[in-house]
Amino acid sequence: MKIFCIGRNYAEHAKEFNNEIPEEPVIFMKPATALLLENKPFFIPEFSQDIHHEIEVVIRISKKGKHIQEEFADRYFEQFSLGIDFTARDLQSLLKAKGLPWEKAKAFDHSAVLGKWLDKNDYELDNLAFNLFKNETIVQAGDTSDMIFSFHNLIAQVSKYFTLEQGDLIYTGTPSGVSAVKPGDVLVGRIGDLQVFSTEIK
Ligand code: ZN
Repeated sequence: MKIFCIGRNYAEHAKEFNNEIPEEPVIFMKPATALLLENKPFFIPEFSQDIHHEIEVVIRISKKGKHIQEEFADRYFEQFSLGIDFTARDLQSLLKAKGLPWEKAKAFDHSAVLGKWLDKNDYELDNLAFNLFKNETIVQAGDTSDMIFSFHNLIAQVSKYFTLEQGDLIYTGTPSGVSAVKPGDVLVGRIGDLQVFSTEIK
């Protein structure tokens, strides 16, 4: 199982860090050991003083494909969820400044929160509003209509380089409003009133 993540897929978030709006999606990966499931708590790792939350819509690939054309991409996923791409922002900044790969800041254990699966046919996925609450206050309010690259386009672009297999995940990028977490914070991802995931920071 592979976990793909898309960077800078919402213009407002790209601007938060003075990043350019990309012409192609920024693609990076996390290992399976990054997953944090079943609303388990997240323990801040000792190597970072600045762990940021990034709420993202996550799609689950439902069948194998390579060089998938955008017009057929809809056939390659059935379910989606919400998750968090936890990022050690201090470490990421150091690595980026040196031009080094940012895996240590992005792909560490339990850096990929994943909520429960939802059926894409039950939602209007291209106009999906989703929220991250921190201690019951909204800190990130996203809408998939603001994505620079659509779900279908992302499947096409990722599968140009990597064979997609059943069960692979794509974290599709975060909207603006990322910020640091501290012990005691409770992060909840919601679509409307539906709680998709919850994690307490330890
Ligand atoms: Zn992200």
